Amino acid sequence: MNEKHKILKHYFGYDGFREGQEVLIDSILAGKDTVGIMPTGAGKSICYQVPALMMTGITLVISPLISLMQDQVSTLNQAGVHAAYLNSSLSYNQYRLALRYAEEGRYKIIYVAPERLMTEEFQQFAAGADISMISVDEAHCVSQWGQDFRPSYLKIMEFVDCLPNRPIISAFTATATKQVKEDIISILRLQDPTCLTTGFDRSNLFFSVKTPGDKFAEVSRYLMEHGKQSGIIYCQTRKVVEEVHERLLKEGYAVTRYHAGLSDRERKQNQEDFIYDVKPIMVATNAFGMGIDKSNVRFVIHYNMPKDMESYYQEAGRAGRDEEPSECILLYGGQDVVLNQFFIDQNRDNDELDEETLEVIKQRDRERLKKMTFYCITNECLREYMLRYFGEFGDNYCGNCSNCLTQFETEDVTESAKKIIGCVASINERFGMTMVVDILHGSKAAKIKNYGFESNDFYGTLSEVTIPKLRQILNHLVLLNYLHLTEDKYPVLQLTDESQTVLDGDEEIVMKMAKENERPVKKKAKKKSAVLHDVDENLFEQLRELRMSIAKEEHVPPYIIFSDKSLVDMCAKLPKTKEDMLEVSGVGDVKFEKYGQRFLDIINQ
Ligand code: ADP
Ligand code: ZN
Repeated sequence: MNEKHKILKHYFGYDGFREGQEVLIDSILAGKDTVGIMPTGAGKSICYQVPALMMTGITLVISPLISLMQDQVSTLNQAGVHAAYLNSSLSYNQYRLALRYAEEGRYKIIYVAPERLMTEEFQQFAAGADISMISVDEAHCVSQWGQDFRPSYLKIMEFVDCLPNRPIISAFTATATKQVKEDIISILRLQDPTCLTTGFDRSNLFFSVKTPGDKFAEVSRYLMEHGKQSGIIYCQTRKVVEEVHERLLKEGYAVTRYHAGLSDRERKQNQEDFIYDVKPIMVATNAFGMGIDKSNVRFVIHYNMPKDMESYYQEAGRAGRDEEPSECILLYGGQDVVLNQFFIDQNRDNDELDEETLEVIKQRDRERLKKMTFYCITNECLREYMLRYFGEFGDNYCGNCSNCLTQFETEDVTESAKKIIGCVASINERFGMTMVVDILHGSKAAKIKNYGFESNDFYGTLSEVTIPKLRQILNHLVLLNYLHLTEDKYPVLQLTDESQTVLDGDEEIVMKMAKENERPVKKKAKKKSAVLHDVDENLFEQLRELRMSIAKEEHVPPYIIFSDKSLVDMCAKLPKTKEDMLEVSGVGDVKFEKYGQRFLDIINQ
């Protein structure tokens, strides 16, 4: 066993590296700048932590989120690695003390918030320290193309310039669009870096998009079958969280909620209830989930479409961390687009940005929203669409998404398209989708009368086409740029240069449509995870209880003691001795010393 494997085993308790980890670690150890692009949960931290423990000096990890830093540091401390964080959650005295320990060389790995880098005290420390590597976590934050641009990340280079010697720089992110990657390399001024993108395909996740008339009814129906499993339901606003949470409570589910409007105490409590499976269903805004590594989440339902694919993949990716089959369901409604547009226009709390930058960012946010919307209306393989977005390639057919399982037939929609485009022209490009659909379908709504559209040439000309189908064709036309949907708060349909070719009959428009009356054949999700099924559930419960009481003693979440996967592995291997126990995934030497015997005792009973 070579050194890096020994470290992986000793501190982290793992027998082998995952896809990509070794390449990245070897690159760092060879002294090269390194970029690792991997989805959430793939195991980026190991990629810099293992080399950090093998290099002579300190590794500084730049990270934007306090909760993530705290989580990482407690995980490391549990594993017997000396690590600390420096951020605004520390009091001044705590901060001074941590810096002093750092100066004394007590820490091998130090997490630091980017705002701290250029402070006088930190500079003073850095000038005298032996820094082997700077590892930039969530590196997409340097890029204005990223979904989370943070100007403070630009301080990293300023900081590096002040150092007597340039350390190795490694950068990690889950955002893999081409522009972001290029920005990371150029803004961080990486020198001939090793770049690796890997592992975006999570084959155990079933992806589906639905457009239900009644979203709550859809959730309710899903939970009738899966309500005993653990899952997250993401909603766009606090109000919707409250609504869905209350209705599910009434239906008798063990459900809890999380959003920024709750007190710290309640948020903490609810999060614990979820993690400990006291209340296995969580209804939350996107404020929930950072740094949460609950492995048995069986479904993630999006009640609303998120603002971009990055957010979606990150949130949906919280399902199935244990690699067991899990579902990611997106409930799409046209209203979701409007609300997201609105949020983009309002642009959130980033007052660090000047007007011009803000405008550029809004423009990019709109682009991303468009790509997200296309995901919801595309007929191609959802996994393929996603992988392409993240710069990887799939097979065009995964057999494990709602589109791959739907029977499609191609249909010539040229005649309908002509009428739709004609209608948009006839109302002088002044109205949105709903009005156009209403006119074509021959709606009796008051607004149609008020505008006098009953006498429009196109009124009722597509009354035989269902409204959802009309919308689908319309979306298709926008997707192919035969029509343009403006990006205002109230989007309006307009003609494009290509519109005329359709009217002239030069263009035949075919679409893949789901076959009517044919429900997608849903793959029978395994009722219970295969791994869990094969082991003694009673023992598993006992181990979980022990883990919970240790977690309480140590004031850390249970997964920091051992993951579910480790517990399942214990149940499967039934270790009798220390040697056996060290064979269990996730049990390293330090953790064995701390807790191993207590777990062995229960197993041996
Ligand atoms: P990311 O930062 O990419 O979201 P993490 O670094 O938090 O992911 O890792 C996700 C989980 O996978 C953690 O529980 C981690 O301990 C586990 N993990 C990482 N590498 C390995 C490995 N080689 N073998 C087994 N588990 C691993
Ligand atoms: Zn597919």
